[in-house]
Amino acid sequence: MRRLPLSSRTPLPRTDLLGDCHSCVGLCCTVFGFSRSRDFATDKPAGTPCPHLASDFGSTIHDALAPRGYRGCTAFDCFGAGQAATARVPGHLTGAVFPRMKQLHEMLWYLHEVTDRALDPDDIADAADLAATISGFTRLEASELLTLDLGEVHEQVRALLVDVSDALRASYHATGTLDPRLHPGADLAGRPLRGRVLCGVDLRGACLIGTDLRGSDLSAVDLLGADLRDARLDGADLSSALYLTGPQLAAARGDRDTLLPHWVPIPQWGRHW
Ligand code: SF4
Repeated sequence: MRRLPLSSRTPLPRTDLLGDCHSCVGLCCTVFGFSRSRDFATDKPAGTPCPHLASDFGSTIHDALAPRGYRGCTAFDCFGAGQAATARVPGHLTGAVFPRMKQLHEMLWYLHEVTDRALDPDDIADAADLAATISGFTRLEASELLTLDLGEVHEQVRALLVDVSDALRASYHATGTLDPRLHPGADLAGRPLRGRVLCGVDLRGACLIGTDLRGSDLSAVDLLGADLRDARLDGADLSSALYLTGPQLAAARGDRDTLLPHWVPIPQWGRHW
């Protein structure tokens, strides 16, 4: 993997991994395409501005995204890549760089959690090293960033996340793991899992669309990449769930009694329904 000079390897703080739409030229509204579906009211090809993108790069329907059929927008987060690309990349390359920048920022988001929660000092050291390298990548010239092979670093981050998850979940003496239906990638869409103690279960990549998790304990449940759209989280304890992101929570449904990790952006539940 490419090594960068020490001076460029200062890790990005977590605050730099939160989207700041006021400092961005609406990159997500132009770069990505979407298809007409329950999340988007129309088709939009990639690379074309959303018809609701205003001249100041805000959204003309910002306060009515869900009622106007754009729920997908309410559950999107670029992990701060939008404002970073806007600030650092020449305008004609911003759109091309943005998806790569988002990949890097997303990896950094997870590495912060590893640094905070890993039990093994070697894992913490590995996370710090990877975070420094990836932060250095975010500071490369656009032309360099566009040709960088991220495969190796992506695989290293993935393996570290799995290792740390295994150790943390094992420390919870998971009771939920006795249920054979609960496993990585499980299809639990619409299932009633209300009031369950799921501590330490590995639900990485699981389909939890509309799953009823009200009042359940999800301590140390690995939710990396799990689809939580419309999952019912009222009163659930996710305060120590693993690898939760703002977009996952924004797509779910919860209430003021839902317990969340303190580092995840608080979703505006109820506002977009
Ligand atoms: S790319 Fe990120 S910062 Fe820019 S408008 Fe979209 S969510 Fe906001």
